[in-house]
Amino acid sequence: MLSNCIKNLLDLKDLNVKSVKNFKNSVEIYAEFPKSEHICPCCGTLTSKIHDHYAQPIKDIPVQFKPTTIFLRKTRYECKSCGKIFYPQNDFIAKYKRKSKRLIYFIVNQLKNNIAASTIAKNVNIDAGFISKILSITNTTLPRVLCIDEFKGNSGQYKY
Ligand SMILES: [Zn+2]
Repeated sequence: MLSNCIKNLLDLKDLNVKSVKNFKNSVEIYAEFPKSEHICPCCGTLTSKIHDHYAQPIKDIPVQFKPTTIFLRKTRYECKSCGKIFYPQNDFIAKYKRKSKRLIYFIVNQLKNNIAASTIAKNVNIDAGFISKILSITNTTLPRVLCIDEFKGNSGQYKY
């Protein structure tokens, strides 16, 4: 019940939130994907056999204006049929590893509002070079269309 309230508050409905640490200058969220059955990318068999777990820090949108990191415990599954070991697909982590999709969307939105890359970098505690990389991608005509499509598809509650 309390966990659901926290998930709602953080808009992390796809994750199980285990704990939240609220520091003076940062927030840490400890979470994991719920266990479920997944389709083997190799042979298509459904499997729920767990191989192992791996915790990865994922930068996320600021909570209470503080840079926020989700320590996300990911589960690797093992196919009972062909033995393939794999991470299930997820809609939360961006293709730029170690960042959530909604963080990328947040950065693009800030850039659109003419907020300086250095300010954004400070607010979310990531490398300014990464912001410049996003800026250069969004400034290029063709990838811009692809980007918008991608963000639109995954932006959750945010209206584009
Ligand atoms: Zn398989």
